[in-house]
Amino acid sequence: METRKIYMDYAATTPIKKEVVEAMLPYLNEEFGNPSSVHSFGRSVKNAITEARATIAKAINAKPEDIFFTGGGSEADNMAIKGIAFAYKDKGNHIITSKIEHHAVLHACEYLEKHHGFEVTYLDVDEYGIVKMEDLKNAIKDTTILITVMYANNEIGSVQPIREIAQIAKEKKVFFHTDAVQALGNIEIDVQELGVDLMAITAHKIYGPKGIGALYMRKGIKLHPLIHGGAQERRKRAGTENVAGIMAFAKAVELATSNIDEHIKKTTQLRDKLINSVMERIPHTILNGHPTKRLSGNANFCFKFIEGEAILLSLDIVGIAGSSGSACTSGSLDPSHVLMAIGLPHEIAHGSLRLSIGDMTREEDIEYVVGHLEKIVERLRGMSPLYDKFMKGEKAHV
Ligand SMILES: *Cc1c(COP(=O)(O)O)cnc(C)c1O
Repeated sequence: METRKIYMDYAATTPIKKEVVEAMLPYLNEEFGNPSSVHSFGRSVKNAITEARATIAKAINAKPEDIFFTGGGSEADNMAIKGIAFAYKDKGNHIITSKIEHHAVLHACEYLEKHHGFEVTYLDVDEYGIVKMEDLKNAIKDTTILITVMYANNEIGSVQPIREIAQIAKEKKVFFHTDAVQALGNIEIDVQELGVDLMAITAHKIYGPKGIGALYMRKGIKLHPLIHGGAQERRKRAGTENVAGIMAFAKAVELATSNIDEHIKKTTQLRDKLINSVMERIPHTILNGHPTKRLSGNANFCFKFIEGEAILLSLDIVGIAGSSGSACTSGSLDPSHVLMAIGLPHEIAHGSLRLSIGDMTREEDIEYVVGHLEKIVERLRGMSPLYDKFMKGEKAHV
């Protein structure tokens, strides 16, 4: 087999689309004014930002004044969680989240717990990575001020019942924030219909640049800013705007949401082909996440008896880019908190592989990847003492 370059890590980041680059270029060149300036250079840029804000708002059925630009998804999550916590601390000090959130949410919650006297409930999830509504209802107390549960999980793709959570939050008069970074462009989003109060999104997961995102926040909610300074973003986020990034974000949102049905159909087909071939051809494999309530571009497997890191390195040699939940590279031997939360034993969680597909994935890529993966898993198992032990045990049974 010849070597190709195949990117299957769209959940980590996406390539920037040509139209998106084109949308930002004028704002890196002639349109350089500071949007806060009174002169024509500034005014013209300010108008462009106003339009971009309206484009993004329209795509999620929000009002333009409910969109606050940030430096990405992590900042939007932090702004929502800490911003609400500090603004409403007199009302209560309890926050509810789930065990499978992105670190931008989990670590913001832990920070509030450790340094600001907040109490956080981390909800368990079921074997598919879905929050149980009974648990959520039972966790709400008089002191609860915020529920933050992600729309779709970045590792295993599980999609949460966001409408139901929003309904419960509303009945209990608790604010509801959702991290919709993975959902944007992959699930149709209407903030009114969903009933969320706050929502984090980012550009680089939808074929836009890194370092630009936004927080949607329904009118009438108080929020303490994280960054103090000028009056930008209605005094919620100081600092001269990332103008080119904002233009790019608006274009990326426009492209991702106008073609969403086609995108979902295509990526679902490819994902199912990938999942079915892997499960059929590679024995002792587990599909992580929900069989149907999952992101259209997400596949996540555990290959028993081997290490995810070893699979990744072998895939990289043949030009395939994937991702693993185990964090050996970061110097820790702990497997992903998400795989632990769905109840996988340590030794199985270590053999995880996430393959995420997107707009540039083609049908022949799937065949190439599965062909190589089958050989890699077989070779690694051939060297695995765990596999050897398992096979000997099998033989002893016959
Ligand atoms: C990527 C990601 C983030 C972080 O967004 P950045 O723009 O990289 O800061 C947050 N939440 C989820 C679910 C993500 O996938």
